[in-house]
Amino acid sequence: MILLGSDTETKPSLAMREAMAKAIVGDEQKGTDPTVNTLLENVARLLGKEKALFLPSGTMCNFVAIKAHTRPTETIIAEDMSHIIRAESAGIAMSSGVLIEHISTKNGQFTREQLLATINKIKTVPHPYSPKPSLVCLEQTHNLRGGTVWSLEQLKSISETAKENNLKIHVDGARLLNACVATHSKASEFGKHVDSLWIDFTKGLGAPLGAVLAGSAEFIEDCRLLKHSFGGALRQAGIVAAGCQYALDHHIIRLEEDHINAQILATELERMEGIEVLNPKPETNMVFFKATTMDVRELQTRIKEESIEIGLVGEYLRAVTHLDITTSDIEKTLEVIKKLKL
Ligand SMILES: *Cc1c(COP(=O)(O)O)cnc(C)c1O
Repeated sequence: MILLGSDTETKPSLAMREAMAKAIVGDEQKGTDPTVNTLLENVARLLGKEKALFLPSGTMCNFVAIKAHTRPTETIIAEDMSHIIRAESAGIAMSSGVLIEHISTKNGQFTREQLLATINKIKTVPHPYSPKPSLVCLEQTHNLRGGTVWSLEQLKSISETAKENNLKIHVDGARLLNACVATHSKASEFGKHVDSLWIDFTKGLGAPLGAVLAGSAEFIEDCRLLKHSFGGALRQAGIVAAGCQYALDHHIIRLEEDHINAQILATELERMEGIEVLNPKPETNMVFFKATTMDVRELQTRIKEESIEIGLVGEYLRAVTHLDITTSDIEKTLEVIKKLKL
């Protein structure tokens, strides 16, 4: 099978498994797992933050961080198609007791003007009738809008606007490192302008599990307690942290290959009769497309009959490149789609 459904399809390589097998471990819950602690120091430095916290998943990073930044009765602001709204089973509502105000965009990035208009909308009636806006959430890269990137300039502008209005900023950085590779910028440059951010090791980085959240020492201490109360404290987590460390050392630089493969896929699909590509110039590792003459589900099934799995997102198929996808897999995929004679 060629698995283009998601970059979570990556399997730990033999070298990563060897690193995991050799890991020196302690007790993560007590803060005495040396492999976890080293990973946390490295990620905090990478993201330009004081401290970091190891969590089982990116979803839990969002829950813990948003809860630490807010109080029930408040409102947070996020893009309409963001993961926290569309793909976390309303977990934010349950864990934080806040409302979410949506901002609609074409590509996933909103402007200072849109943010200001949203803050004003939240404050339509006087306090205390209106909820207090307290946090802005950004997604880097923006998944459901095509793996699109917040540029440093866009982020700076939102960061200044947030500060002027006493809002904190949290970044869902599931694919932050894809954005860094695509824009040739340092992750700490992005980290500098926000209060909290996290990276996921189970996407293009190719580890079997783990995510790391970073922020100020005080914020991370709050998050540690919340993580414990959500049942996210771990024991000999060094086994998995070693996989994450291996990914940091070996898999960041190669994300560029995934972006090139996505570009090849998009460019060639765009040339084909009967195919519409939503993002013909993919910024990172995702290509959204559909057929103009065939139902998208049927297209997905026909492709799957040839042992190629591609995910369905709304009215489009979403193909995601990752470290288990080679350029020849992309060529094979293109051949299969071409043969459908759409
Ligand atoms: C995958 C993803 C998450 C959730 O991460 P998990 O590690 O799967 O819990 C959050 N946000 C975005 C944008 C994602 O793509």
